Amino acid sequence: MPAVNITLSHPGPADASVDHAIQAIVAGASTAETCSTDLAVGPWDFDTRPGYGPGSSMGDVIPTVSPRQGELPREYREASEDELDARIRAAKATLGERVVVLGHFYQREEVVRHADYVGDSFQLANAALEHPDAEAIVFCGVHFMAETADLLSRPEQAVILPNLAAGCSMADMADIDQVEECWEQLAEVYGDMDAVDADGLVPVIPVTYMNSSAAIKGFVGRHGGIVCTSSNARTVLEWAFARGRRVLFFPDQHLGRNTAKAMGVPLEQMPMWNPRRPLGGASVSTLEDARVILWHGFCSVHRRFTVDQIEAARAEHPGVRVIVHPECPMEVVDAADEAGSTDYIRKAIEGATEPTTFAIGTEVNLVQRLAAQHPQHEIFCLDPVVCPCSTMYRIHPGYLAWVLEGLVDGRVVNRITVSADVAAPARVALERMLAAKPPAGRVEKAS
Ligand code: SF4
Repeated sequence: MPAVNITLSHPGPADASVDHAIQAIVAGASTAETCSTDLAVGPWDFDTRPGYGPGSSMGDVIPTVSPRQGELPREYREASEDELDARIRAAKATLGERVVVLGHFYQREEVVRHADYVGDSFQLANAALEHPDAEAIVFCGVHFMAETADLLSRPEQAVILPNLAAGCSMADMADIDQVEECWEQLAEVYGDMDAVDADGLVPVIPVTYMNSSAAIKGFVGRHGGIVCTSSNARTVLEWAFARGRRVLFFPDQHLGRNTAKAMGVPLEQMPMWNPRRPLGGASVSTLEDARVILWHGFCSVHRRFTVDQIEAARAEHPGVRVIVHPECPMEVVDAADEAGSTDYIRKAIEGATEPTTFAIGTEVNLVQRLAAQHPQHEIFCLDPVVCPCSTMYRIHPGYLAWVLEGLVDGRVVNRITVSADVAAPARVALERMLAAKPPAGRVEKAS
């Protein structure tokens, strides 16, 4: 396993709270704009409604099989922020080393302040490995992240997702039935998918982004494929092109396109695969010529960023340094000064020695926290509308208090378990990623 490179948590300044900003907007105390005033209420008020809830993914269609969260006991729904804070601290103190709390970069401040580690999904799964004796790993992130932690943790450790309704709209855009069907259709075009040609290449190597279900990671592992993160996508594509004539990349079309384009793959050799259309909506000749087949998936958080926002930031803040996440659309990445993973963004700001103005294209909770942690810089979110990731937002401190107090009482609630038949090939795909190295002479850089 690689060295864990994460930020140890610490109580953040009060003005890092996106929730406080939303409450102020709803109360009329702020002139800022939010994408939904429903964000000011507890997630239990919308957990039972169809859809992902208010926030960046609220326009996406939620799969019918997505997990639902049972009703949170009233005592947690009605507790004040201060009461929940005190109860979480007390439960953690009682549990001590028996529990590790992980907080994703995009998680709300009121939860992140209780995390033992803060990082991206893979960093956090690896952080849990540092605690093999912990009985429980409480993952304050979304469903696929808890699955990955379960894949990498010991079987006797319980991985807990505080709110089962915290899925990921992008991960849900590639379900296993659609991907299996796609593979069958591609086999009709390319023939035997295991046959190597004169160059020793198979027709297609499947590559999945970390932001996908364990079932998809298992599919990739079974078919000679590999997992990637936003930090190592280029290295992983190089690994795949050394073994296959072309790549099937899912679920995020933008990470796939941005990475392959930077490697020199022409756009016309990157057809989109729409799972609702025969042959994904592409012709046989297009698929034969393809180098990267992009799944029709996207992140609704990063899709909010636009070239207009970048131009407005440059007009208002001459000399501004614009950094966006590679899940943003290609034209946004092209218009920015830099593109990189959440960890790249964090390190770029930490590494700036002179006071700098940063416009950041990623989830608002991380941007607000970075702004509060680096008052010597001016840091703002490119999107002027306060609109957090709707599924991350479902991890409310009330749910965290509930699962932790459950552990104190000897109850494990909301355990996430990946079945053995899925876990084995999924681990193979993850191990391939860990073994993949940039070619000699090329230093790995965030995509
Ligand atoms: S930010 Fe996007 S990719 Fe990340 S959890 Fe939210 S919807 Fe999924």
